[in-house]
Amino acid sequence: MKLHLLGVNGPFPGSGGATSGYLLEAPNTLLQFDMGSGVLSRLTALTAPESLTALFLSHWHFDHAADVPVLMYRLEAMSRVLPVYAPDDPDSALFRTVSSAACFDLKVVKPGDRLTLSDVRITVTAARHPVPAVGFRIFCGGKDLGYTGDTNTLPSLVEDYRGCSLLLADGLFPASAWAEGKPHLSAELAARLAEEAGVGQLVITHLNPVFPCETLLREARNIHQNTRIAHAGEVLEC
Ligand SMILES: [Zn+2]
Ligand SMILES: [Zn+2]
Repeated sequence: MKLHLLGVNGPFPGSGGATSGYLLEAPNTLLQFDMGSGVLSRLTALTAPESLTALFLSHWHFDHAADVPVLMYRLEAMSRVLPVYAPDDPDSALFRTVSSAACFDLKVVKPGDRLTLSDVRITVTAARHPVPAVGFRIFCGGKDLGYTGDTNTLPSLVEDYRGCSLLLADGLFPASAWAEGKPHLSAELAARLAEEAGVGQLVITHLNPVFPCETLLREARNIHQNTRIAHAGEVLEC
């Protein structure tokens, strides 16, 4: 599998950046995970968006789904209906827009759900965030990848991502800014999760432009050496 990091910022982009969006290329399958602001144009630079097999949304916050209503115009123009897998959140205006659009086939998912699309198997994982949110674990050809979406600490995360070869994790906060009631992990806590779960490589993402990446990387590597910071435009083999 190849994972294209299209957007790695949150909750807002840095200059020239984009918020959450990751394109997974697997045999006969193209899966888009989240589609925040600036992601649709980056996706279009790689492939026609209507060629996606499906779109997966970790939750409906704008930094993960802002480009979805714009994608709607493209799908309508191409007469394509795209499956969208996402948690139930009727309070979200974006959720209601996608539910009622004919070009989207919305399939509500919850933690524990298992899906198969072509050669790819996906398990929906839990997340702790102020709105309904999930993560994903993706298996294909003997490899596997975890994506936490947005989450703070949750006991089930260790089992959900146990033995993952690559974990793309929300690690927004430096240790000094994290607190129990915040909506995200710190880079240090993401590294602790990776260590406890026996993850191979940890990739810290959902980068807030106000926090220096060097601090996040240093704090995470103190706990899990095999850690890197996500860079938009990067392609990871997994
Ligand atoms: Zn976010
Ligand atoms: Zn969020």
